[in-house]
Amino acid sequence: MLVDRAKITIISGKGGNGAVSFRREPFVPEGGPDGGDGGNGGNVVFVADKNLRTLMDFKYKRKYQAENGQNGMRKKMYGKKGEDLIIKVPLGTMVFDSETGHLMHDLKEDGDRFIAAKGGRGGKGNVHFKNSVRQAPNFAEAGTDGKEREVILELKMIADVGLVGFPNVGKSSLLAVSTNAKPKIENYHFTTIDPNLGVVILDHEEFVMADIAGIIEGASIGLGLGYRFLKHIERTKVLIHVVDVSGSEGRDPKDDFLKIMAELESYSPYIAKKPMIVAANKIDLIDEDDEEYIDFKKFVESKGYEVYPISAPINYGVKELMYAALRALRKAEEEFEEQEYEMFDFEKDEALDEDYRLVEVSALKSDGSPFDISMATETNRPIFHLSGKQLTKIFNSTNFNDMGSLRYLFKYIENSGAMRKMRDMGIQEGDTVKIEDFEFEYIDEF
Ligand code: GDP
Ligand code: MG
Repeated sequence: MLVDRAKITIISGKGGNGAVSFRREPFVPEGGPDGGDGGNGGNVVFVADKNLRTLMDFKYKRKYQAENGQNGMRKKMYGKKGEDLIIKVPLGTMVFDSETGHLMHDLKEDGDRFIAAKGGRGGKGNVHFKNSVRQAPNFAEAGTDGKEREVILELKMIADVGLVGFPNVGKSSLLAVSTNAKPKIENYHFTTIDPNLGVVILDHEEFVMADIAGIIEGASIGLGLGYRFLKHIERTKVLIHVVDVSGSEGRDPKDDFLKIMAELESYSPYIAKKPMIVAANKIDLIDEDDEEYIDFKKFVESKGYEVYPISAPINYGVKELMYAALRALRKAEEEFEEQEYEMFDFEKDEALDEDYRLVEVSALKSDGSPFDISMATETNRPIFHLSGKQLTKIFNSTNFNDMGSLRYLFKYIENSGAMRKMRDMGIQEGDTVKIEDFEFEYIDEF
């Protein structure tokens, strides 16, 4: 999962100075002190906003300063308080103090607020410093300085739009040309397991796009399939199905399209039903009035999908495609909110007997013999083997083609305490977790 990071400087407002002033009235040679107080400086406040997706804005602007408080004035007039500076950040943004590395705050829900730098205090005017001996104080208090601190913002990005399609159709090229991601572009049939993510920026809007090629390209479903993937696909709201319409490599676009659709369907009917747009890539290699292409386009449109002819490497048609994806995304988001996805509620599942919850964790070598954790090195990592009565039961009834069923299994493992145990044992990102003869990749943010 890509982490978006930004380092910015925040400065709260300085407090205004108290005023030194004396009443001036006709026939009163020296009136009493009447200098008013300075106003407080403005705070720097982070506010979580559900409409934001990334920390992109902070890459361009790095200094954020709240307003200073005004100085106090004569006639006991207060200086105006400095305005707070509100900085909107996406949900899930963590604010770290850059100097110490300490987490200052985690902005989780829409509207969450956090004062990261408090404004300076306004100074008292000389009106406060009069007493029986000091009739004419010719001093006032200065306002205190604002706080300046450097903070690091961190956000785990979740893909809104996912790219699917056969190997070599141009998914990586599309990701590279439309986002800040630097995926590997290859002309041979090989794919990395990690989904690649990038941010698509369109005028004032942006979304996160991921190449989720791995699901389709990994011939068998379970193999190498990490929890990471499930997380990505589950939250992806729109799919862009990339098809090589040039039929290079002797492929048939229509056939490819149907095969991927069938693959998605077998992976999860829920995913297959997601809103989808078709990118007819490599259009530069053929004519747009080519009969076969028109035939393909008609065919796909008859199934209810929009088709956008593009050529990824030369950035032809890509912008139109991205706007279409954005429209589909906004629409999906509206509907998504209404539906409120039903997540499996593990707590309510009373069928689970506490005793059965226990999952044994053992660290093994690849040949199944015990592994001494204290001997583990970067290259020499144990395989974490999970076993347990209830685990076996759930495992055996897990349908690995079904998201809900898989989620149930993962949730069970999490709730059993096995994750904690493995963390205590020093499990690292990328380590293998084995149940029966099934292998998973361990992901830190599980
Ligand atoms: P992926 O496997 O789907 O990620 O495909 P890649 O983006 O790695 O592209 C595979 C090959 O097709 C690379 O050699 C690209 O340069 C090439 N390619 C991708 N898009 C186009 C396109 O629109 N036109 C042409 N002519 N070649 C393309
Ligand atoms: Mg690729």
